[in-house]
Amino acid sequence: MIELRSDTFTLPTPAMMRAMNEARLGDDVYGEDPTVLELEERAAELLGKQAGLLLPSGTMANLVSIMTHAPRGSKMLVGAESDIYIYEAAGATVCAGVMYEPVPNQDDGRLLLSDLRRGFPDDPDDEQFALPSLICLENTQNRCGGVVLPQTYLKEVWEFAHEHEVAVHLDGARVFNAATALRLPVSEIAQYADSVQFCLSKGLGAPIGSMVVGTAEFITEARRARKMLGGGMRQAGLIAAAGLVALDDLHRLQDDHANALRLAEGLAGIDGIDVDPGAVQTNIVMFRVSDPRFTWQTFVEAAGQHGLALAELGHGRLRAVTHNGVTEADIDRALSIVRRVLADGREH
Ligand SMILES: *Cc1c(COP(=O)(O)O)cnc(C)c1O
Repeated sequence: MIELRSDTFTLPTPAMMRAMNEARLGDDVYGEDPTVLELEERAAELLGKQAGLLLPSGTMANLVSIMTHAPRGSKMLVGAESDIYIYEAAGATVCAGVMYEPVPNQDDGRLLLSDLRRGFPDDPDDEQFALPSLICLENTQNRCGGVVLPQTYLKEVWEFAHEHEVAVHLDGARVFNAATALRLPVSEIAQYADSVQFCLSKGLGAPIGSMVVGTAEFITEARRARKMLGGGMRQAGLIAAAGLVALDDLHRLQDDHANALRLAEGLAGIDGIDVDPGAVQTNIVMFRVSDPRFTWQTFVEAAGQHGLALAELGHGRLRAVTHNGVTEADIDRALSIVRRVLADGREH
């Protein structure tokens, strides 16, 4: 099976398995797992922040960050197409008492400043309004096709947030893909956020885990929220060891981006597929099946029967994600499968 549903399907590399096997361990709830401490320090340093924290998932990393930034009864401005708003089971409302205010994402992933401004009441002293405490951005923006937010835009939002005395949290599940696409150190992106979460378990290829980075004070409070949510893990160095290997291998993401572009360019040459290769910036390709003989469901099912796994990602669009388990040869095979599925469809 050529697995293009998600970059979460990566399996740990042999080097990760070796590192996990040899990791020095301790009880991380006591702060005594040396491998976790090393990873937290390494993540903070890479992103240019004071401290880091290992969490079991990106969802918990976002929730812990929201709980730490935003008082109960406040609201946060968040993309209407964001993971935080769509895929995280309303955790901010349920667990943190924080209201989501969805702001439209532009096709390029941005939340317009004019739309953000609308989230701030004209009279903040008027007791009937929930007050904004946090702006969440997502980079790369998954549902907009893995697009990279421009650096000038991040700076504008950062300045806007400070003017309005709210924090910025960056959901950087794929922030290393953004850094790779921009050919910039990831700290250049992170400088425009108070906290950043990133996933070790996506393109970076580790089996489990996400990191949050921020100020030392922020991370101390986030540690309490993590414990409250049940995310305090004991010999978590097992996970951290794979994460450290992942952070040594960041240049590999370039291959994923090249493979995504190869896929998009190939798909663009196939009748019955609607795709814009110019829109592909990282490891995600969004496309539609325009052949009227297929719905996205029947197309995904037929592709699956031929050995190609694809996913729907909102509004009937299909998503293909490249990752460490996908080679250039797999991309060429995937393209043959798409051609075959459409050719077979025409015979019926
Ligand atoms: C995957 C993802 C998350 C959540 O990470 P999990 O580890 O799956 O909980 C958060 N934000 C974005 C943008 C993601 O792609």
